[in-house]
Amino acid sequence: MVPELPEVESVRRQLGPRLEHRRVRSVWTDPQSRFAEVGSVVGRRLGALRRRGKYLLVRLEGDGGFRELVMHLGMTGSFRFRDDPAGWIPDAYVRATFVLEDPDGGRCVLDFRDVRRFGRLAVVPEGEYGGIPTLAKLGPEPLSEDFDPDRFHAALATTRMPVKPFLLTQRPVAGVGNIYADEALWRACINPHARRVGRARARVLWAAIRDVLAEAIDREGTTFRDYRMVNGASGRFADFLAAYGQHGRPCLRCGTAMARVVLAGRGTTYCPRCQRR
Ligand SMILES: [Zn+2]
Repeated sequence: MVPELPEVESVRRQLGPRLEHRRVRSVWTDPQSRFAEVGSVVGRRLGALRRRGKYLLVRLEGDGGFRELVMHLGMTGSFRFRDDPAGWIPDAYVRATFVLEDPDGGRCVLDFRDVRRFGRLAVVPEGEYGGIPTLAKLGPEPLSEDFDPDRFHAALATTRMPVKPFLLTQRPVAGVGNIYADEALWRACINPHARRVGRARARVLWAAIRDVLAEAIDREGTTFRDYRMVNGASGRFADFLAAYGQHGRPCLRCGTAMARVVLAGRGTTYCPRCQRR
């Protein structure tokens, strides 16, 4: 399962405390992966780990002003800590390896593993995301106060796209991927093809997006137990899903069989009765 915002948030919660205040001793990157300027992390100290949408951002403290390490898990990226730098078992899918040093001199190793190579690592001057348009153009963070129901309604009114693919552009709100778009639209009783979402319905959808993401984050927080594996792909919340992947099953609200269509290239599941318009 491709990591979405809740999985990336749980990676952040696990990874953050283990990175903060550590200094990068050395880094290796796979020459075939196009990771921009990652070598410049060497010698810098890691600050707080933040998340924007599905991007993880860590401040790099050192000479010449703050820089930022920008990380995206892509489809299959994951991080893994090894406490013993010497015990390295070569793995064809490790794309980057960071040797980190504690303030007291202890060392550990962080691997970035990525089978499909859609993951991304880059170092940029702090806050300068011009070279990463998908980050620069992200809409407001869904669980922050920046995500406002009136501005969300205004954003939905700027497009002629159907509501679901518009959500997936990340412009009206950051971090809503295919799973949570289907879930939020089901909760809000809005058809994924809808092109007009009025103020009242936009507010219901706004609340549904926040609720579904907050619940999924809570759930991820309880399913990740092994702190050695910081893995974005869990797929352990199938029992929580009401729409995504549920086609053919009865709608949990009305009992009608859930329908599946392909909308703008993405599999989309909805209730043809509850989500009529
Ligand atoms: Zn229904």
